[in-house]
Amino acid sequence: MFLRRNAIPVVKGTKDIFTPEIELIDHINRTADEKYRQYGYKKIETPIMEYTDLFARSIGTYTDIVQKEMFTFSDRKDRSITLRPEGTAGVVRAYLENNFSFNPGITKVHYNGPMFRAERPQKGRLREFHQFGCEAIGSMNVLLDVEIIELHINLLHKLKLKDFTLLINSVGDKNCRKEYTALLDKFLRKNKSKLCENCRSRADTNPLRVFDCKNPTCQEIYNDAPLLTDHLCDECAGHFEKLQSWLKLKTIPFSINKKLVRGFDYYTKTVFEIQSTLLGAQNALLGGGRYDYLIELLGGKPTPAVGTAVGIERLMIALKEQNIPFKPDHKAQVYICTAGNFDEKIVIRLMDHVREHGYIPFYSYEAKSLKAQLKEADKLNCSFSLILGEEEMKKDQIVLRSLEKGSQENIDLNDFKKNISDYLKVKN
Ligand SMILES: [Zn+2]
Ligand SMILES: [Zn+2]
Repeated sequence: MFLRRNAIPVVKGTKDIFTPEIELIDHINRTADEKYRQYGYKKIETPIMEYTDLFARSIGTYTDIVQKEMFTFSDRKDRSITLRPEGTAGVVRAYLENNFSFNPGITKVHYNGPMFRAERPQKGRLREFHQFGCEAIGSMNVLLDVEIIELHINLLHKLKLKDFTLLINSVGDKNCRKEYTALLDKFLRKNKSKLCENCRSRADTNPLRVFDCKNPTCQEIYNDAPLLTDHLCDECAGHFEKLQSWLKLKTIPFSINKKLVRGFDYYTKTVFEIQSTLLGAQNALLGGGRYDYLIELLGGKPTPAVGTAVGIERLMIALKEQNIPFKPDHKAQVYICTAGNFDEKIVIRLMDHVREHGYIPFYSYEAKSLKAQLKEADKLNCSFSLILGEEEMKKDQIVLRSLEKGSQENIDLNDFKKNISDYLKVKN
């Protein structure tokens, strides 16, 4: 940090994003937008702030997010407002408020934006982080679960990511969860003295979440715990069976992780996660599942739905760990250097011409030596420099220098203008 005295730093757990990182983010977002379009999703933007009740009611009062991790404040009329910790609740609120349910067929939307959680900042986990995701609202058909999983696997392939695995599970519905919760409750009470403090309090408030505990002693104990997947009712078991046979039919490799429950109360039936082996403890790249009760919970008529959220920061770490080269696919950048005295009109006309043909011109704007200008061109990652020299200009010539090859040649200015795309070819 190079902060001067009296300067104000960025808020803890947040960061500025700029070049070259932002180009990779843009690339990820463009690729995702394109994938969502292919699968019929329309983009939606919901506000970053919502009334706190929305998250308390949807995510669940006894979750870590709602209890400890939300940025909540009162507005001037003393209404409780929260910066969104995730995207689904806002989308569902918008679905109800704008009557999307009157649209024919399924409502398919995708979103992208910053989310906020007051967690301890660590690698791949900031207090302001970015997610994109999608929701398909209005059908119980398992094909939508399969389609959403397939879409995101295709997206990871498109981003050239390797080494990831798909984990699936079923968390049942009201029907089977009731019977199972009694079994789990009995098991947890029997083992309570051996559990960590966190798990002991979860056992009382949100027993399904105990499986998220990273404590090895707890995990050892849970190896013998009854698992919901083994106690599904016929309908949920059928849905889970169909999910697996469709994934097999589509040759999408997966493994079942019976302890996968995901962090939110609102999931029903299908839950899934795609994990990268290279991310360490925070290894989930994306996660999602079905939430058949959420719309009713937020005041709508019973409507089944399924969705996914993808962590952009996690995705970037995984791409970097795998050394996947990324080259922004824009056209060549050209630095226009001047040597000697110049009428800037010549420079400006040349910049206009370069820009009109889709290339990106740079210029020093300040008087600098040729050496300094070339250095700047290099720093800006320009592929070419066009040098306007007093002597050459008398012969209507300019010098074209390839910064990649380090070679240069004198060329006719008019010929350059006419055949600009031949001269500014970049090897990829
Ligand atoms: Zn524990
Ligand atoms: Zn069930």
